[in-house]
Amino acid sequence: MATIFTRIVQGEIPCYKVAESEKFFAFLDINPLAKGHTLVIPKAEGDYIFDIENADYAEYMLFVKKVALALKKAVPCKRVGVAVLGMEVPHTHVHLVPMNSEGDMSFTKEKLRFSPEEMAEVAATIAANM
Ligand code: AMP
Repeated sequence: MATIFTRIVQGEIPCYKVAESEKFFAFLDINPLAKGHTLVIPKAEGDYIFDIENADYAEYMLFVKKVALALKKAVPCKRVGVAVLGMEVPHTHVHLVPMNSEGDMSFTKEKLRFSPEEMAEVAATIAANM
């Protein structure tokens, strides 16, 4: 059965899309730690990031970097934090979180809520900076 993230890539489940290439896809996390919290995934299914073959892994990280640079332009912050958890969704994804302090990367803190309009606007701003 397709993963929830594959279903997002295929357009079966809606998302706030940020970027797409032939192999990779980026969209906003629906339970954000910060405005602009983005997930970057390979379109190919696979649970564990470090199972990815070297050349694909390098290409994936370059795409992650491109999204992170666009995110920092769209959402001014000290840094874009990077995390890989995968405790909930078994389809490789990198979290990119605009950070101003260490606490902004705490995955145990209460998640933020933004209106659909705010989510769409930040996704479009990141996309425009790609
Ligand atoms: P983890 O697998 O522990 O890295 O957590 C999965 C992340 O995916 C969480 O931050 C969720 O909020 C996020 N997530 C789950 N379903 C969706 C969805 N349909 N759209 C966007 N983000 C999602």
